[in-house]
Amino acid sequence: MGIIAKKGRPAVPLAEAVLRDQGLRLTGPRRVVLEVVWGTDSHPTAEWVHAKVRRRLPRVSLGTVYRNLRVLVAEGLVRERPGPHARFDGNVSDHHHFTCTACGRIVDVAGPLADSQARALSARVASLTGLRVTHQRIEFYGRCRSCRARSPRRSGLPGERRR
Ligand SMILES: [Zn+2]
Ligand SMILES: [Zn+2]
Repeated sequence: MGIIAKKGRPAVPLAEAVLRDQGLRLTGPRRVVLEVVWGTDSHPTAEWVHAKVRRRLPRVSLGTVYRNLRVLVAEGLVRERPGPHARFDGNVSDHHHFTCTACGRIVDVAGPLADSQARALSARVASLTGLRVTHQRIEFYGRCRSCRARSPRRSGLPGERRR
């Protein structure tokens, strides 16, 4: 049985079961942290999550939020996007990301991660490097819709032809 629910988010009772298996409980702050991350598509930072959590639990510290995010990541209930400033993702199903280079917005891109082209690329990387590739993820970059609307002339890839 998978824990994947609508939009790749597990349900709270299943999160409780996953944590219970590890001897962990869905404590008040942990539950609110989980609900905040599952409740947004914005791939938030820990600071953003902290601000939202404090609306419901005013005395929770950033450190508590951080520790709970780490637990939720370790248990596979939340994904972490590594980088200079870690972002957290409530969508735990396999998906790609599009990052807007103008405003920094990160958008989920659905799509099979193991289609034939992806498998061929993995096989090539494996044979060129001798590394064992288990999976891959593609990062897309460009301008999101609202940034394109703001400066339409600079949209599109360099060299892209207009039709
Ligand atoms: Zn943008
Ligand atoms: Zn995502």
